[in-house]
Amino acid sequence: MKKDDCIFCKIANGEIPSKTVYEDEYFRVILDLGPATKGHALLIPKEHADNLYELPEELAAKVLPVAKKVAAGMRQKLQCDGLNLVQNNGETAGQTVMHFHLHMIPRYENDGQQIEWVPGKPSQEELEAIKKQLTE
Ligand code: AMP
Ligand code: ZN
Repeated sequence: MKKDDCIFCKIANGEIPSKTVYEDEYFRVILDLGPATKGHALLIPKEHADNLYELPEELAAKVLPVAKKVAAGMRQKLQCDGLNLVQNNGETAGQTVMHFHLHMIPRYENDGQQIEWVPGKPSQEELEAIKKQLTE
């Protein structure tokens, strides 16, 4: 289903033009207008889902094969040295467009970008408690 007021619904379904680098029945991959690096692309499903939680399982299963295909093209054609996949869910996590999308960010030596976090130092007990919380 499409959502009327969603810009990525319109882009994914071709109602708003975009720099499309891949398209199939379910997805469109476009160049990000505010790229972190050369070739930064967004993999967007044509069907609306706010985020990963809302994404139907069948569609979720199709995301990574497409990402893999596009990643291979990026490596071959852009000669990138690496690739970050980033996928934000919820405002707290940095999501600004509330239609699921996977960032594909080619990386180049000395590209000056950072996709990092400050590592914590949990104790074994803390890790154990979290494991329990997630598995019980
Ligand atoms: P996020 O913060 O994960 O929701 O990412 C949203 C991304 O969409 C940002 O990297 C924006 O630069 C990008 N973006 C927003 N609007 C457009 C658009 N019309 N075409 C291409 N990229 C867009
Ligand atoms: Zn949408």
